[in-house]
Amino acid sequence: MDSIPKLGISSCLLGNKVRYDGRHKYDNWLVETLGRHVQYVAVCPETECGLPVPREPMRLVGEIGKPRMITVNSGIDHTPRMLDWCSLAIARLAEEELCGFVFKSKSPSCGLEHVKVFPVGGGTVARKGMGIFAREFTRAFPLLPVEEEGRLQEPLLRENFIGRVFIMRRWLELQRQGLTPEAVMDFHHRHRLLLMSHSPEACRFLDKLVNDAQHHKKQDFAQTYLRLFMQAAARPQNPVIPDSEP
Ligand code: SF4
Repeated sequence: MDSIPKLGISSCLLGNKVRYDGRHKYDNWLVETLGRHVQYVAVCPETECGLPVPREPMRLVGEIGKPRMITVNSGIDHTPRMLDWCSLAIARLAEEELCGFVFKSKSPSCGLEHVKVFPVGGGTVARKGMGIFAREFTRAFPLLPVEEEGRLQEPLLRENFIGRVFIMRRWLELQRQGLTPEAVMDFHHRHRLLLMSHSPEACRFLDKLVNDAQHHKKQDFAQTYLRLFMQAAARPQNPVIPDSEP
């Protein structure tokens, strides 16, 4: 029987009062609708790294790609504390076999994109940053589907994300059973039409890859296959007319 997918989620989106002001950011659709089909693993980087509720708000300061996490009024740098916690949390989350993660937007810890980064000494604020936990998580798990709660309001993005989460769940089940070339080939044939709807080019490339499976090292082959599959699945879907079998 298929297992229910596990999704990591920024804890405040579930209604937990962990934000700097003691409030939450309950997301009705994530809890009431998607929550019926997935098992959530709640994560709050700021409280789990030892900061209290309520607490002084923080912001990202410095280089866009490598900002510091600084409290707004007192100027305390919490970057080392956050990075230490991220290493431990990522090791723990690797054991969870997550199929994806939903992040809280705009947060200096959890925001996936367009997080404000303030220049040292003042100047123009760039909305190009990534929360520190979101950055470390996506580096550690580059193939996992990730989204922000705001983007999931958009039906096509939502559908695409959920599709990738369930693909990842099936892949993890396959991994548990053993990633033999035959198993990957079977996975490919079961998902071929779906893959074709996202990217005919990627589908044909993966046709060749699986047909040539015996000539690759087992683990390299499986990881290459998954990487290319997930990249293709992240693209928008188009209707397809099935072509002939490869
Ligand atoms: S955005 Fe992230 S760090 Fe901030 S309260 Fe929510 S879960 Fe915690």
